[in-house]
Amino acid sequence: MDKTDKKGPIQTAERDLITLGIAVAAILLFIATGGSVLPKVMRSVFAGDSAPDLLLVNALLLNIALIIFGWRRYRELTTEISERRKAEEIAHKLAQTDPLTDCLNRRSMTDATQSLRLKCNAHGQALAFVMIDLDNFKQVNDMNGHSVGDRVLKQTAQRLRDSLPKDALIARLGGDEFAFVLPFDRARSELVDEHVMRLFETIGAPMDVDGSMVDVTMSIGVTSDADGIEDTAGLSEVETLMHRADIAMYQAKKQGKNRYFWFEPSMENELRFRNELETGIRRGVTAGEFVPYYEQQIDLESGDLVGFEMLARWNSPTLGLVSPDIFIPIAEDIGVIAELSEKLIIQAFADAKEWDPALTLSVNISPVQMRDPWFAQKLLKMLHESNFPANRLEIEITESCLHENVGMVRSMISSLRNQGVLISLDDFGTGYSSLEQLRSLPFDRLKIDRSFISELRNADASSKIVDAIVSLGHGLEMPITAEGIEDQQILDSLKEMGQLKGQGYLYGRPETARQVHDRLKETGKLAGSADVGAAEVDEVEETEQAAPEKQVNKR
Ligand code: C2E
Ligand code: MG
Ligand code: MG
Repeated sequence: MDKTDKKGPIQTAERDLITLGIAVAAILLFIATGGSVLPKVMRSVFAGDSAPDLLLVNALLLNIALIIFGWRRYRELTTEISERRKAEEIAHKLAQTDPLTDCLNRRSMTDATQSLRLKCNAHGQALAFVMIDLDNFKQVNDMNGHSVGDRVLKQTAQRLRDSLPKDALIARLGGDEFAFVLPFDRARSELVDEHVMRLFETIGAPMDVDGSMVDVTMSIGVTSDADGIEDTAGLSEVETLMHRADIAMYQAKKQGKNRYFWFEPSMENELRFRNELETGIRRGVTAGEFVPYYEQQIDLESGDLVGFEMLARWNSPTLGLVSPDIFIPIAEDIGVIAELSEKLIIQAFADAKEWDPALTLSVNISPVQMRDPWFAQKLLKMLHESNFPANRLEIEITESCLHENVGMVRSMISSLRNQGVLISLDDFGTGYSSLEQLRSLPFDRLKIDRSFISELRNADASSKIVDAIVSLGHGLEMPITAEGIEDQQILDSLKEMGQLKGQGYLYGRPETARQVHDRLKETGKLAGSADVGAAEVDEVEETEQAAPEKQVNKR
């Protein structure tokens, strides 16, 4: 229909008013004229009397036509109104619900929770707000496709509806995040726990989606208004409940997922700390606050220095020197790990170019970086631009890289090895790599995790694990590095096990580029006339040297 044909509501109302006026006038006229003209018409037709005045008969016929017209218009109007009402109802429902799962959406959940709260409070009941986030849903989507992901969300919603009481409000707040609100007797909060625990069974049961079985776990955060809600700046009471449930849910994620927590005020501080870290890390990456430290790697038999492992440190202006165990997982979560790591690697290439060219440089690569199909190309480009020989570089990946996409990891490893880069499997023994993976993936080296090495200090029973890993390495023809050599006893035990490389505090703590430079200078292990470069080491490192032990460690 042409846009100009469309009538606005005012025009339609005016037209309807005129129609009504015409119909009323027609009825009045019909009563007035019909009373005298109709009997005359009848008599003329049936008794042969003289015909009534033609004008009056025409007026009567016109009246009848107008009444029919008015009636039809009335019928049209009533159907139009009922259709409009239906359309409004649909629009209202669409605005209130999530189209995929038919649950309430975020906006309507807030209003519905507020109304339910008022009702509950009037009856002396309390209200629990429960936030649910599916674990690893991105992987479900990535591995099975979005349509399977959608079906999983639908089934989750259905299972929620099936297992919760009828008076619960259920919402999908977005993505893989659901929430429900449940009235409960304020003295019996354990009922909320019972409902939540039951959900782990019902939603956790394998879902058959188009023949593929999908296992869903979830992290849940719970809070309630049973003890009142004190004012939280700028948030309404319902928003405060949501916020708290969210914090508790986040805690469940952090503690390993597939579990639930009730909100506690201390969690809020932790979250605030985390937010500060996130902001600090983002800013720090841009501001160049992340610096490489280097740990010596030694040939255990000869005691010779063979290279260094680069270990990242955050020189935070507010927190001091922060360890990678704290900032690497966060940098991975917030998507800045690649940028952070690339900057450090480029810096490490520049530092290592000043060393004896026989010394190798190892760098740690996060599983998140290994998901990038262009990672190998990026690394080779960095090598090329830094003019750093590929055969001096060793990258360390952990076993968790192997779970995600072995095919892609294999092809990346192969293209890097073709260029001469060496690949180590770091923290070996802490993950779940299978013998098959070890046999088929072309690693150049296994690094035994320091948790096994440290046990060499105790009874000889535990050395059996290290023994076994060393024999495995020999069998697979993969050289071995032992991490975490802290004392002479450990070193002696390792030396008996064959030709190994090693690193650990016995040989020294990780050091700044400047300290490494000085160490190498003393032992004549600098490349050519590289002493000049040491003067360029920036001020940041000077500060670090002043307080090497002042470090923020994992909490
Ligand atoms: P890793 O690669 O296994 O590094 C060895 C860790 O053991 C380092 O901790 C090192 O300081 C520590 N260590 C070395 N010798 C000893 C010892 O004798 N005793 C004990 N108790 N510890 C020792 P650091 O520097 O805190 O790094 C922790 C982890 O953070 C590293 O473990 C690595 O997985 C990760 N990491 C460090 N830098 C980077 C980076 O640039 N990128 C990525 N993705 N991860 C990094
Ligand atoms: Mg490492
Ligand atoms: Mg390690």
